[in-house]
Amino acid sequence: MKTVLVTGGSRGIGAAMAEKFAASGYRVIINYNSSKEAAESLASRIGAAALRADVGSPEEVGAMFEQINSRFGGVDVLVNNAGISKISLMTDCSESEWQRIINVNLGGAYRVTKAALGYMINKKDGCIINISSMWGVSGASCEAAYSASKAGLIGLTKALAKELGPSGIRVNAIAPGLIDTDMNMELDAETRRGLIGETPLMRIGTPEDVAGLACFLAGGGGAFITGQVFGVNGGFVI
Ligand code: NAP
Repeated sequence: MKTVLVTGGSRGIGAAMAEKFAASGYRVIINYNSSKEAAESLASRIGAAALRADVGSPEEVGAMFEQINSRFGGVDVLVNNAGISKISLMTDCSESEWQRIINVNLGGAYRVTKAALGYMINKKDGCIINISSMWGVSGASCEAAYSASKAGLIGLTKALAKELGPSGIRVNAIAPGLIDTDMNMELDAETRRGLIGETPLMRIGTPEDVAGLACFLAGGGGAFITGQVFGVNGGFVI
């Protein structure tokens, strides 16, 4: 049985991916930061393990991997999904806000991937999926730090696909469009209507829209796919 770690699996897209992987026969580890209750209730419903760690903290990621390695040996599939966003003008984006967004969204993927690699390299097999964003591809006004972190994930994906391909490890990115989760609670009704209006498929995406692709990439269908960035955005960015 393959083991998958989904960072930020307590809510939203991460929770939908955890559910989909569990339904597809994987052993699932849900990482969370602050939503202990949500993570534990999802874990008990789908038969997963829930482990707390702030992916922005090297120490907490290290402690989480000590547990993962002793309980499960390691992870075969890693989904770097944990992420935060903040809407603000560049002129209002403080040094600490910038650091926090880059450190969680991009730094988190760096340190969780690094911790997961030993096991994958030994097995000469592994799959890493980085959850970027369409804003990492096209840039979002008033979300410069977020867009930069998500563009960074695309660079990381492409570099690691080249570095790790000879070790049998595939690395891909998913760049979702507007998906209906807590992350977009800040958007007012008019902005949502505007974004839907610009989307050829004329709706907001669901976490399940993203989960289906993640599961496909991790499975046999994705065996010859690496270094790619997949838009799941209803045609918003073409
Ligand atoms: P969400 O509903 O706000 O959920 C975010 C998840 O990330 C939560 O499980 C949260 O865990 C976790 N998380 C946040 N900071 C963390 C940290 N420091 N350490 C560990 N976990 C942390 O967001 P979402 O919409 O599902 O987003 C998931 C990913 O998709 C993010 O990377 C986001 O940038 C990306 N994305 C989202 C959209 C969208 O429209 N929703 C579009 C493109 C890309 P806790 O609650 O336990 O803290």
